[in-house]
Amino acid sequence: AKSRGRANYQFFDPAMVQTAYDALVMESQLVQALERDEFVLHFQPQVRTRDQALVGAEALIRWNHPQQGLLYPDRFIPVAEQQRLMLPLGQWVLREAVRCARGWRAAGLTGAPIGVNLSTVQFQSAGFVEAVERVLQEEGVPGEALELELSERMLMDDLPDVMHKLTRLKALGIRIAVDDFGTGYFSLRHLKELPIDKVKIDRSFVQDLPHAQDAAAIVRAIIQMAHSLGQSVIAEGVETTRQLDFLATQGCEELQGDLISAPLPAVEFENWMRRS
Ligand code: C2E
Ligand code: CA
Ligand code: CA
Ligand code: CA
Repeated sequence: AKSRGRANYQFFDPAMVQTAYDALVMESQLVQALERDEFVLHFQPQVRTRDQALVGAEALIRWNHPQQGLLYPDRFIPVAEQQRLMLPLGQWVLREAVRCARGWRAAGLTGAPIGVNLSTVQFQSAGFVEAVERVLQEEGVPGEALELELSERMLMDDLPDVMHKLTRLKALGIRIAVDDFGTGYFSLRHLKELPIDKVKIDRSFVQDLPHAQDAAAIVRAIIQMAHSLGQSVIAEGVETTRQLDFLATQGCEELQGDLISAPLPAVEFENWMRRS
């Protein structure tokens, strides 16, 4: 009787009901937000360590919520993923990023690839590669303008299928980066066999540099391993010059983080490019 009582209590746990309710509200708001064009992309510059020349930018989604102001992806991407809303939302991100890239190329501002984050449902959805190809064609932008960021986990699932998709994306000229590298259970074999251009060292390692010996050892190992496989390395979340110095010494060729610039609205990113 006691355990049933507890089970009943759990079923009616107000916090759980609230969470489920919040997710439902969020879901319908997300659908509306897409229709009302309330999402925006911010762009964070990526620079070459050696001379801090611009080598790319990562597109990061934000939601311009009519009541709550600017919302960050951690607040709504997980909900969108659960509700399969991630497909239209991911498609919007892709098109918007490619559209921005087209404008910057046309204006002679940059031809550097724009990084787009993918979520699992998107990468695994039927016709994903064709959808990417269509966006590039319709916007008249070459694949070289695009870099796709995939997490380790997404690359682990079904190796032959992943290989097939990445090969086709690469044939379009698109670059492939592994996001949050070092946080998952990526196997060396995958890293070696898949056509990966770049690994992104996760911020959690970078933030402990240069003093934490374990973080320093991991970063060193990732850089050496990637280089031995012919891949380049970018460190994310670089905030201090001491982190930069350590990464430069270890041969990490690219940097991204608040030390260089926070993610910027498109117009501010354009100004940043004109200034630098
Ligand atoms: P992420 O891909 O690891 O993106 C890097 C995150 O670190 C971004 O957070 C960025 O604003 C933040 N960041 C960059 N430099 C620094 C720094 O120097 N210090 C600190 N403390 N933080 C820094 P954001 O924009 O909140 O994005 C969070 C996550 O949401 C992203 O992590 C990514 O996984 C996901 N995300 C963002 N945009 C999209 C999208 O369009 N589609 C999908 N599927 N996921 C997205
Ligand atoms: Ca990313
Ligand atoms: Ca990342
Ligand atoms: Ca991350």
